[in-house]
Amino acid sequence: MPVACGETWQIGTYPGHGEFDVDFFPLSGEPWGQPVLASYDGTVTVAGINGSLGGRTPENPDGPRGRGGGYWVKIDHGGRWETQYLHLLEPPLVAEGQRVARGEQIGRIGSTGNSGAPHLHYEQRQGWQKVETWFDGAPSGITTDEVEYTARLTSNNCP
Ligand SMILES: [Zn+2]
Repeated sequence: MPVACGETWQIGTYPGHGEFDVDFFPLSGEPWGQPVLASYDGTVTVAGINGSLGGRTPENPDGPRGRGGGYWVKIDHGGRWETQYLHLLEPPLVAEGQRVARGEQIGRIGSTGNSGAPHLHYEQRQGWQKVETWFDGAPSGITTDEVEYTARLTSNNCP
């Protein structure tokens, strides 16, 4: 999972979200600024802005929504596998071309782009296709956005 070892987060989706897309909401602590971690080793291929940032910040959580993913990161894991991390609070903590290890912090939880509240939008892709996310060797069960769905999962992204 793209969040800290041992923490339990809500994962889920909702109608209109996008097939296979997963949103992560923290279940404890202040959501703004919580660490976003690389879910697997790889090379950063994008670290920048998708769409527009908007104006939702910890100081102004109901500010104007942006468009798209806001601050985001894409990591190439080899074998045509990639992951994407959207709506980060600030410019990513990694740069394009940088190697990252699983568990390395790449950003912080925010609400930039088209986001209602601080959370992480996460995708796993193989080739150019989104696929069902798997965590710790098990499928998430999120394969459609036709119905609202939430579950709780504990991260095993441990050193
Ligand atoms: Zn999302």
